[in-house]
Amino acid sequence: MFQSRILAADAAPLVGAKPAPRPSWRDLDLTVDLGRDLFSARWWRGLGTLLSLVAFVAWLAPGLEPLTGPRAEWFDAPQAEQWDALGIGGLAAGSPTGLPMAETNAVTPLAEAPVRTTVALVGAIGPGNDGLTGLLVRSGTVAADAARAEALVRSAGRRLAPGTMVSFTLGASLAGGARPLEQLELQAGMDLKVRLARAGAGLAMSTTAIAVDRRPLRIRGKVGDGLYWSLRAAGASPMAAAQYLQAIATQIEVGSGVAQDDRFTLVLANARAATGEVVTGPLLYAGLERAMGAPLQLVKWNGQWIDAASSTSAAPRVSSGIFWPVQAPITSTFGMRFHPILHYARMHKGIDFGAHYGMPIAAAAEGQVIQAGWAGGYGQQVRIAHGNGLVTSYSHMSRMAVAPGTLVHQGQLIGFVGSTGLSTGPHLHFETLRNGEAVNPMGIRFVSAAPVNPGASAAIRARVKELLGG
Ligand SMILES: [Zn+2]
Repeated sequence: MFQSRILAADAAPLVGAKPAPRPSWRDLDLTVDLGRDLFSARWWRGLGTLLSLVAFVAWLAPGLEPLTGPRAEWFDAPQAEQWDALGIGGLAAGSPTGLPMAETNAVTPLAEAPVRTTVALVGAIGPGNDGLTGLLVRSGTVAADAARAEALVRSAGRRLAPGTMVSFTLGASLAGGARPLEQLELQAGMDLKVRLARAGAGLAMSTTAIAVDRRPLRIRGKVGDGLYWSLRAAGASPMAAAQYLQAIATQIEVGSGVAQDDRFTLVLANARAATGEVVTGPLLYAGLERAMGAPLQLVKWNGQWIDAASSTSAAPRVSSGIFWPVQAPITSTFGMRFHPILHYARMHKGIDFGAHYGMPIAAAAEGQVIQAGWAGGYGQQVRIAHGNGLVTSYSHMSRMAVAPGTLVHQGQLIGFVGSTGLSTGPHLHFETLRNGEAVNPMGIRFVSAAPVNPGASAAIRARVKELLGG
């Protein structure tokens, strides 16, 4: 019964039977898993495919042939001997090149070796405690002579700086191998030439003064396209140009306060020796005649730049300028910006300095610390009040070096750069506040009016006259 039903089902006519599909290259069963159905017909076919592929690759591959390299040179006996004698025999041929060679019978010992009776030397005094004695002893001078030479130069009131060049002559070697000092010449500073010469058992010193012209150096020019390069073109050294810019920045905005037709004057301390040596000292005077605005006549007075031109009032004014709290580039300025952590545009109320972790932070101006502690997103923060409603703040510090109430002077260490609070990395966020309102630090100038004794006013003007005249 069961069977007949199956038979019946088998016997049922096939309705809509599909024709056999056409063979396609896709049906080619080439990728056989050789780990399954071992030794089946399909497995053997797979192995055959693999081996024929390997054979095909081996047939395609270039052949392996030995590379030809430099061949070792082989000489016949007489030639090899010659090359060996010259010390350039082939190493591959077992050459003794580089080995010390024994003398032959042709070498005869010297009956006596010549001795130099005098040695002329030039040396420089080394750093630290080397001194003239150190240099001379190092060069083979008898210790007593070296000490005597140093004592003589000291008696001329001169201490020799490291790097001072000394030319000297030593006599014939004594029993111990050291040589006596015969003669010595050096320049002690810019204006004195010292000469030592043997006199019997001792040394005698003679000195020659070198004329030095100490009139200050004056540089004048027009601002033109750029102040810095005009200064350089007029002959100011990079150092002098930088000092000039720093000086006038204490009074005016160098970026916008200087025009093309303005004329600058620099007076620098200068010393010209008759020997040709020139030493240019610090900036003594920085003047600027301005087409628009009052002229500047700045003189260094008690370590500060004082404008003698504005001293028509009771006394000259002193402006110490702003002092950047860290020596680092500004990475973000005052104004609107997109906050990297909070992800929305907001006002950036200060200046960011891209300083390294741990860099010292200095007070921008003299004042009193009114806060030193945690201030929310600002992290560890120091605030300094400078009077006249002016406050500076320094944020994200890693460590603070002052406590509330501390009186600080300009440039005093107040803490170290860090990344505390809302900060993506070590930097200093510096703010200036005027009556509680954040203002652009770029526009701030800490002006303290008339700390100069009014009586000094005349002296300052006399100094300017002296520097500009003559
Ligand atoms: Zn900031």
